Amino acid sequence: MAEIVRVRYAPSPTGHLHVGGVRTLLFNSLFAKKHGGKLILRIENTDQQRSTPEHEQTLLQDVISLGITPDEGPDQGGAFAPYRQSDRMKIYADHVQMLLDQNLAYPCFCSAETISAKREAALKLSRTPLYDGTCAKLSKEESSNRIKSGERAGIRFRAPNIDFVLKDEVRGSVEFKAGSVGDFLITRSPQSSEEEVALGIGMPTYNFACVVDDHLMGMTHIIRGEDHLSNTARQLMIYDAFHWDLPKFAHTAMVLGSDRQKLSKRNGDAGAHDYLAQGYLKEALLNFLAFLGWHPGSTLTPRSGHPEILTPEELAAAFDLDGLQKAPAVFDLEKLRWMNAQYMRLLPAERVAEAARSFFENSEIESVRLGMKLITSEWFVRMVDLLRMDHTLLSELPLASRILFEDSPALDEASKQALLGPESKAVLIALEAAIDAVPELTSEVFLGIQKQVGVSAQVKGKQLFMPIRIATTGASHGPEVKNIVPLLGKSRVLKRIRHTREQFQS
Ligand code: GLU
Repeated sequence: MAEIVRVRYAPSPTGHLHVGGVRTLLFNSLFAKKHGGKLILRIENTDQQRSTPEHEQTLLQDVISLGITPDEGPDQGGAFAPYRQSDRMKIYADHVQMLLDQNLAYPCFCSAETISAKREAALKLSRTPLYDGTCAKLSKEESSNRIKSGERAGIRFRAPNIDFVLKDEVRGSVEFKAGSVGDFLITRSPQSSEEEVALGIGMPTYNFACVVDDHLMGMTHIIRGEDHLSNTARQLMIYDAFHWDLPKFAHTAMVLGSDRQKLSKRNGDAGAHDYLAQGYLKEALLNFLAFLGWHPGSTLTPRSGHPEILTPEELAAAFDLDGLQKAPAVFDLEKLRWMNAQYMRLLPAERVAEAARSFFENSEIESVRLGMKLITSEWFVRMVDLLRMDHTLLSELPLASRILFEDSPALDEASKQALLGPESKAVLIALEAAIDAVPELTSEVFLGIQKQVGVSAQVKGKQLFMPIRIATTGASHGPEVKNIVPLLGKSRVLKRIRHTREQFQS
């Protein structure tokens, strides 16, 4: 029976989820979906200085807002719970003990200051700063006496002095030469928390906890950023020490900013929530990120007609590790904007409206905020459906909606000018009369009326269309008038025309 794919996204909760993290989460999620496997979310919070419960909440919220739901995780639970590393101390303590028992690890009493001073000294001599082995030679008895007398020790893993080769799904064979990694800490020295004192170990380090969990949680594939490649040397040593089978590793190329420098806030590395708050749709953001460092192996024919605009299902079907690229990917904000504009048109109007709602409800424009309280959801969807065609971001829609919410807006000078003169007057008089005479103002009815008004007032082209547009919408540009008037309805349109005539044509 084929093995069931299990992959994980294992963030350290140090703040908001940034685009690089979203991409890793997405690749794992697509891979799980493609193979009918499971996506596990694991919180790696063993660095308690940087990882806080508040940050964890922020991060979980960000994952939810992207619409990606793990199969197992701190909120979902699962057969391999707990999924938060700080809740797994007993498991780590047991595994540390196994290594201590086999003399594959030893207590280390060197203080952080000593280690850091030796490190500095090695760097000054242009040497790789490896642990110098001070505590490696202590006898078990000596170490245990020092611990009994109250000294605190971290646990250090004896790094074997042999070559390791990683067969990476993206990078091919990666060699880690013997001697490039010194003995490394797998747990920090215990702090005063009750649990740490009782278990006799401090918080595990990332490399140790990660391997223990990846093994116990049955991970089949580790898909993560290339920045973890150098950690993998230490991780391979731990797999080896426990005689555990290796999962498959795929280290994805880094994402560079548009200036080809390391991704930072300045060149695109905002949090996912920043992009959503700016008015990007999660669907567009995810589709965009999927193509950042990945390309489908064969030419696709997606429903959208565009080779890079794929539904989540199409993406999952197309995704494979072969398509992950070695070269760094460049974050192109213009492309993301383009992608968003496509999604504004492509998604069902209901979905765009749902995503747009908060921008309207929290708009700085008072008429929009107040208007939102008076309309039905159905009307709101129709309005968004009308406005979305001409815009790139959801956040642009409230301003564009003023033409629908404000019945007597202030006109600009050019619009006022366009209403002057006998032709404009004749157009609006005829328009008002014709609209008054119909029971309902549909697009077709309106087009008929417009034609009829042109004939009766003997004007055409701009001279006909401009006064009509300005009188009905209050602006000289915007979506097609024939689509706006049915949304306003007959009586509001009449009110607007009358108001315009009284104000500017009497
Ligand atoms: N916790 C690590 C991080 O947030 C990820 C580790 C991994 O994927 O192995 O960078």
